[in-house]
Amino acid sequence: MEIDKLCPMCGGSEIGKGRTIGQGGMVPIKSLMKGSMVYADICTECGHILSMRVEKPEMFKNKN
Ligand SMILES: [Zn+2]
Repeated sequence: MEIDKLCPMCGGSEIGKGRTIGQGGMVPIKSLMKGSMVYADICTECGHILSMRVEKPEMFKNKN
């Protein structure tokens, strides 16, 4: 998916993609399981994070 949005903070148009490393992943708050990788869209001008999302959103459903 191509990203063609602008940074709401500085108007920059170059949006980079980042991901967490090491222990920076996100885990369900009640879980001790291995976490899910977190991806972020980052403005390469000012560093503003436009959005973050996890690799495995189904892990965070409240069903039990
Ligand atoms: Zn920016």
